[in-house]
Amino acid sequence: MEILRSVCPRCGKPSAGLCNECRAAETEWLKCEPRVESIFCPVCGSQKHGRTWTDTTVDHETLVNEIALAALILHPDLRGAETTLTYTDPTPNRTFVDLTVSGRLYGVEVSGTCKVKIVWIKEQCDRCNRISGGYYEGIIQLRATGRKPSGREMDRAMRIAEETEDGLQEAGERLSFVSSIDETKDGIDIVVGSQHIGQIISSQLCSVLGGKMTTHPKLVGERDGKRLYRVTYLVRLPRFQTGDVVVVRKGYMEVRGAGHGRLQVYDLKEGTARFIAEDEIERLVGNVGDAENALVTYHDGDVIGLLDPGTQAPVECRAVPWLQVEDGGTIRILRDEETERLVLVG
Ligand SMILES: [Zn+2]
Ligand SMILES: [Zn+2]
Repeated sequence: MEILRSVCPRCGKPSAGLCNECRAAETEWLKCEPRVESIFCPVCGSQKHGRTWTDTTVDHETLVNEIALAALILHPDLRGAETTLTYTDPTPNRTFVDLTVSGRLYGVEVSGTCKVKIVWIKEQCDRCNRISGGYYEGIIQLRATGRKPSGREMDRAMRIAEETEDGLQEAGERLSFVSSIDETKDGIDIVVGSQHIGQIISSQLCSVLGGKMTTHPKLVGERDGKRLYRVTYLVRLPRFQTGDVVVVRKGYMEVRGAGHGRLQVYDLKEGTARFIAEDEIERLVGNVGDAENALVTYHDGDVIGLLDPGTQAPVECRAVPWLQVEDGGTIRILRDEETERLVLVG
């Protein structure tokens, strides 16, 4: 009588059909694309995927890892895969990666290696292309009524422009860039790459600095079959700015809320807030941002003795109810050049 036994046709071990060892040995479980191209912008380092550019937020090593792992093709039956890799950069446009993969295939421990060559290709990205080509979609002109915007206002405006650009770039709006910020004889011009960033910066300037905006679009041609408009955003700041100390009916007022025509002021004698019309203002004394510190030498009832910070000469001022004064302390003063008086501002 014949005894029926199942054996592996390859190695002859007892098995119902091909044994796991032979099956694992016959399976091509590890493959990788031997050559991968990676397109990057030599100016800003952005990466191109298909037709889309994105900013690279990882370092070279992480990028090499990501590209090499994407080139790896593993058999779906492989379990518990672990990959390690080493690489060398023999030239700036070539990286050689050695990958080692281990895991279990049909219950059999397997391990293998493969090599990936990364070819780095330089191409100017969409954003750098626009910037270097002088492309822009808007100009924000910061101006002020009857004066040039102050250094403080212009510094603030530049910060707003830079912060807005950072925010939009981080959110992936690559073409919302600021291409230049220039001081002109009557303000600053901010040149921007998209109308979206132009709109955001100019509204921010209005809300932070109290300006009024008018927009002037102009058709300048076509690009990629679309009509191309350039927009001038004119942001006009009011005649007076926050922190200005002004004279109204012989009294000193500090502007707390700037606006066109109507201003919120703080009465520096009474310590009360109110609204005034711009045409009630007789003249401008200065801005609290330029105030000096004066040493308080004594304080007696409603008289304060100060050392004039300009001359170090002792002077007496009328105390104001809203300001706490301590002997030996300092208070902030502005000099009224017209009357030679010192104005207490804080
Ligand atoms: Zn076998
Ligand atoms: Zn670039």
